[in-house]
Amino acid sequence: MKCIVCHRQAKGYGWFNTRRKRGDPQRYSDQWVFCSRRCQESFSKLMNKTEGQMIDPSDMEIAAMRACLAPLGEYVGEIGMQRPLADYSRDEVLMLIDVVVTAYQDCMVAEHERMAAKERAFFEERLARQGLATGKGVPF
Ligand SMILES: [Zn+2]
Repeated sequence: MKCIVCHRQAKGYGWFNTRRKRGDPQRYSDQWVFCSRRCQESFSKLMNKTEGQMIDPSDMEIAAMRACLAPLGEYVGEIGMQRPLADYSRDEVLMLIDVVVTAYQDCMVAEHERMAAKERAFFEERLARQGLATGKGVPF
């Protein structure tokens, strides 16, 4: 099982939608598993703020793939831009994979955290406005 946020190995963290009744197939998903409390919390915040609606992951995945380009280019530049992949040693290939996977995972986690913060800011601003609206213009 892979963490739905960053795709690392999941480690026993899960989530279910308390807005759905028991027995509702949308209450649980076997894909809602996480590698860490960090990923679990970022997912939970996002799901709670969006009232259980899943965000489209493809934009995030595309952004995460794009985030891999610079570290990938840097690493390939370090070991020799002209060398064909077939000439890479096993360790060089493993390091290339590590560079790409780490960049991808970091971007996925950061993006989930950024979205959760954006949602939180939106709702806090909305609550603040409601407070202002009820706090002024009370006729007596
Ligand atoms: Zn994770």
